[in-house]
Amino acid sequence: MTAPTTRDACAALDAADPLAFARDRFLLPEGTIYLDGNSLGAMPRAVAPRMREAVEREWAIGLIRSWNDAGWYTAPQRAAARIARLVGADADEVIVTDSISVNLFKLVAGAIGLQRRRAPARDVIVAERGNFPTDVYVDASLARLLGMELVCVEQAEVPAAIERAGERLALVQLTHVNYRTGLIHDLPGITARTHALGGLVIWDLAHSAGALPVGLGAAGADFAVGCGYKYLNGGPGAPAFAYVARRWVGELEQPLVGWHGHAAPFAFEHEFRPAPGIERLLCGTEPQLSLIALETALEAFDGVGLDALRAKSVAMTTLFTELAERAVGGFDGASGFGLASPRDASVRGSQVSLTHPRGYAIVQALIARGVIGDFRAPDILRFGFAPLYLRFVDVWDAAEALREVVATRAWDRPEFLARKAVT
Ligand SMILES: *Cc1c(COP(=O)(O)O)cnc(C)c1O
Repeated sequence: MTAPTTRDACAALDAADPLAFARDRFLLPEGTIYLDGNSLGAMPRAVAPRMREAVEREWAIGLIRSWNDAGWYTAPQRAAARIARLVGADADEVIVTDSISVNLFKLVAGAIGLQRRRAPARDVIVAERGNFPTDVYVDASLARLLGMELVCVEQAEVPAAIERAGERLALVQLTHVNYRTGLIHDLPGITARTHALGGLVIWDLAHSAGALPVGLGAAGADFAVGCGYKYLNGGPGAPAFAYVARRWVGELEQPLVGWHGHAAPFAFEHEFRPAPGIERLLCGTEPQLSLIALETALEAFDGVGLDALRAKSVAMTTLFTELAERAVGGFDGASGFGLASPRDASVRGSQVSLTHPRGYAIVQALIARGVIGDFRAPDILRFGFAPLYLRFVDVWDAAEALREVVATRAWDRPEFLARKAVT
C-alpha cells in the first residue's frame, strides 16, 4: 500500500470502513487521538450506566442478594464466554479472574505439575528475554521454587532454544505479540513444534486478544492468559483471563487454591477439592465491580468480525508506518528515528514502535498536542491502534503532530523531560 497523501483520502477510508459503527460505542475525549489502547483501553459508553446500576441498585439495595439475583456469581464465566470468541476457544475453556501475573503463576506451576506426572525428567522452561517483565519474573520464580532450569533467549532465538531443550523440554512460555516491538510469534508453529518434542506451551495474549484473531483451539494450544484492560477495554485493573484446553482442565492442579476454585464453595468443606471445570482456576472473591465493567465493555465487540478487525488494524499500522516515516524524514539513522516494529504487516501486531534517543520527551510533546502514545525504556515510542474506535483521519493527524514535533525540536523543551512514574 502506498499511503494516501491527503487527509481527505484518509476520510474516504473511514467512509468505507465496515467497523466505523463501533467508534460510537466509546466515550472518547474531544481533541484527543488515543494511541494507547494497548496499555489502557478507552471506555465503552455502556460501562458508566452499568456501573451506576451495579453500585446504586445491585450493591446499595440488593446487597448480598445480588450475588444470586444480579448474577454476580456467574460473571467470570459470562465475561469469559465473550472472550472465548475473540481468542478462538470454547466458553468452558476460559475464565476471567485475577491479573495476568497471578494467572501465569497458576498455569506455569500447573503445567510443570502436569509434566512431572507424565515425564519427570523434563526440567527446562524456555522463555523470552525481552518479554514483558512480569512474565519472566513469574517464570524465574517458579523455576527456582520447583527446581527447573529457565532458558531465556531473544525472540528470534526461541525456536532454536526449543530444539536444544529437546527431551528436557517441559514448558515454553511466550507472549504472542511482543509489547515493545509488536512482532508476532508463530503461535501455531511453535505450539506444534513444542508438542512434537513433548513440551507444553503457555501463551500470553496481552497484546493479541481484541486486536487480532488468535485461534487457540485451531492451533491446539494448551494454556493462555490475557489482559482485560488493554484491547478488551475493561478499565484500569480489570481482571485478566486464563485459558486451559479442555483436554487439560480435569488434570490441571494449580497451587493458588482458594474457596472459589472449590468443587462446592458453599459446602465449606475442610479439604480442598478442585472444581471439575475451568472454575478450578478461581481463587478468592473477584473484584466484582471491575468484573462487571469488563463484562459490559466486551459488548463493544458485538457484531465485530475478527477478520475485519485484523484487516483494519493492518491498514492502520501500515498507514502510520508510512506517514511517520515521511514525517520524521526516514528511519535510516540520519533522522535519529528508527522503526522497531516489523515492516511486514503479517508479523506485526496492532502497534507501531519507533525508536529515538529522546523518545520520552517526544512522547510528552505529542501528548501535549493531544496525541497519546507511550514510551517504553530505553528508547521506544509506542503507538497502539485499537481498530474498534480509531479512524484513519486519526492516523493522519497523529503523523502530522509527529511532523510538527520534529520540525520544532519540541523534545528540547524542559517541561517534556521530567519523567513521570507511569510512562
Ligand atoms: C500488560 C501485560 C501484562 C500485565 O500483567 P498484569 O499482571 O495483568 O498487570 C502481562 N504480560 C504482558 C505481556 C503484558 O503486556
